[in-house]
Amino acid sequence: MSSVTLEIITPERVVLSTTVNMVSVRTGGGELGILPRHFPLAATVTPGVVKVKVEEGEDFIAVSEGFLHVRPDRVVLLVDTAEVGWSIDVKRAEEAKQRAERRLAEKGTDIDTARAETALHRALYRLQAAEHSEKAGEWLKKAKDKSQSS
Ligand code: ATP
Repeated sequence: MSSVTLEIITPERVVLSTTVNMVSVRTGGGELGILPRHFPLAATVTPGVVKVKVEEGEDFIAVSEGFLHVRPDRVVLLVDTAEVGWSIDVKRAEEAKQRAERRLAEKGTDIDTARAETALHRALYRLQAAEHSEKAGEWLKKAKDKSQSS
């Protein structure tokens, strides 16, 4: 099966650099499924859960907002934050979710509400990515472990 290099980069670090068979990303224009040899494209990334297909199965990555750059051999996501499913601290995300829910219940200013809603969505996407990744078999962790041991 043909593959494409996927790089997910945040201001802090390169979160992922690996080959995949398909990437599915939420963009400003809707959900986009990217296969190898996709035509060049630039788009905004909407916070959510990125799905990737690898030889053995699929895996999930939580991302916040940013940009997407597609070339036939390479897909680059430049996002504020990104966490591969296996690396997500579920307890931390659960606590962030509860904090945001409490703030929303307090009904502060519009700015507080918008901030709490964004934080709530970040936490929910992290919980979703962690759960889906675990169920799918954490293939990106296996790929990373394999490349480090060889
Ligand atoms: P928290 O309130 O728990 O810090 P947050 O949504 O405010 O959550 P961010 O500002 O989005 O956190 O992220 C700060 C850094 O922490 C980023 O590098 C992000 O990847 C990482 N991060 C945030 N939450 C988690 C998590 N649950 N598991 C792993 N890494 C996380």
